[in-house]
Amino acid sequence: MVKKGIIRILVLLIISMPVTFGQYEKKPKLVVGIVVDQMKQDYITRFWSKFSDGGFKKLVNEGFSCVNTQYNYIPTSTGPGHASIFTGATPMIHGIAGNYWMEQPAHRIGYCAEDPDANPVGGTNDNGKRSPKNLKVNTVGDMLKASNGGRSKVFGIAIKDRGGILSAGRGADMAFWYDEFSDNWITSDYYTDKLPEWAVNFNNLKLPEKYLSEKWETFFPVEQYTECSPDDVSWERPFSGEEKAVFPYDIPAIKKNYKGSELLEAIPVGNNLTAEFAKALISGENLGKDDYTDMVVVSFSSPDYIGHQFGPRSVEVADNYVRLDRVLGDFISWLDKEFGKDNYLIMLSSDHGVGDAPGFYHDMRIDCGSPSQKELSKELNNHLKKVFPLPAGEKREYVINIQNLQIYFNDSLLADQKIVRSEIENAVKEFLSFNEDVFRVFTVDELQNGAIVHDPILKRFYLGYHYKRGGDMFIAYNSAVLYDTPKGAGHYSPYAYDTHVPLLFYGFGIKPGKYSGLVEITDIASTLCTLMGIQFPTGNIGNPVKAVLGY
Ligand SMILES: [Zn+2]
Repeated sequence: MVKKGIIRILVLLIISMPVTFGQYEKKPKLVVGIVVDQMKQDYITRFWSKFSDGGFKKLVNEGFSCVNTQYNYIPTSTGPGHASIFTGATPMIHGIAGNYWMEQPAHRIGYCAEDPDANPVGGTNDNGKRSPKNLKVNTVGDMLKASNGGRSKVFGIAIKDRGGILSAGRGADMAFWYDEFSDNWITSDYYTDKLPEWAVNFNNLKLPEKYLSEKWETFFPVEQYTECSPDDVSWERPFSGEEKAVFPYDIPAIKKNYKGSELLEAIPVGNNLTAEFAKALISGENLGKDDYTDMVVVSFSSPDYIGHQFGPRSVEVADNYVRLDRVLGDFISWLDKEFGKDNYLIMLSSDHGVGDAPGFYHDMRIDCGSPSQKELSKELNNHLKKVFPLPAGEKREYVINIQNLQIYFNDSLLADQKIVRSEIENAVKEFLSFNEDVFRVFTVDELQNGAIVHDPILKRFYLGYHYKRGGDMFIAYNSAVLYDTPKGAGHYSPYAYDTHVPLLFYGFGIKPGKYSGLVEITDIASTLCTLMGIQFPTGNIGNPVKAVLGY
């Protein structure tokens, strides 16, 4: 009887063990981080009926979707977005304070992926002076390499240099980006002195030439795009040299108005080129073929160019996603065949969303303004010069830049004029209090003194402010403002249209499911690290998403 009882207890113990028992022996062969530049979460549902079974639908149906994934900082732009997904940090910590910023105190404009010491490899111009040296913390890829003495291989690719560079990290083997002057994928001598042979062979295929010889017509008949505004509307920005933004697009003719193969970046075939290069890289570098997990980040840049030009309600954007879905489907089935679904992991997200075109809002009778930042800067300086008159002949201005929703003062002018900082701050506040587009103006001190972090929107300014790259004051516009966008659309704000992005997991360790609770963009990195069983990145402030992991 005693023996039977013991057996029963043992059986009960085994049954009650977590289903994850034994998981640590197995690691994914390959982790594929996919970033779709400027993809909004609602694109998945809006375009669902036009998707194939093998692309987004496969990731949703057979993978796990976090449908309420939000950016938790400003500016919601490309450089910071890619850095945050793969570091679990915000600009305050990872230092990528915008695509561009002003270095303090030098007031030099900095670009997020620039490196004056780096030289192009595979190309011949300034497009190659790039590296991740502005990134102040480590990425998931860096931690993966650190976990096994560098035996894992880590790569990043995107048409935009910052997309591949900032997501792969400082320790990456290589990042690649597209050079529109040589029509080649290039890298820099930060990583290597010579383009790998597989990359040279890929460039020799001259795919850009082929892609640019094809017209862009809608995948489905244009009248079937009922989730969009009509094709011919006034708020879209036509291609250079074109009068209207209307299908079909004669790409070989339009190409002549663009530098080199630049047009390729801004049409759907940019996605095809990116996916083909990703496959060449995975094969060429033998990724996922040994005992150490490898990682590649593939960022699709073209959706962002198309979104800016035509706006999120356009047939052009919808058609791009219909086509990207097929590209993705082909890529997933290639990966499934190459590695087996359960042996590799896909994570798909986006670096930011996008606001609606102001013209679209007007037609929908929804309020939206599009003030010019340059004008605002001019008006602000005129006001400040009235309050704090300058000596005759003084050419300097008090406000030298407004960038990333931040006002940068000319510190040396303030010092020479013996102006107390709080006085000029108050003058700015008073002036902007009459501006209908602005709902809050505040200072660095106010941001850091605590009150701001209790405001759910203004907290995003706190997490986005980097003390050496940020400005002196902050402007929070109303949510119905899209500055500098008379046509097309843009993103930068702390509002839902810019912060709400998709987050999908598929493959290794992932059970199908959906979660509608809040996931912050900084939670992705630690979720990936937990799936791989490695240390979180050095600047990580996020937490693994329990719903995805199941424990
Ligand atoms: Zn972007």
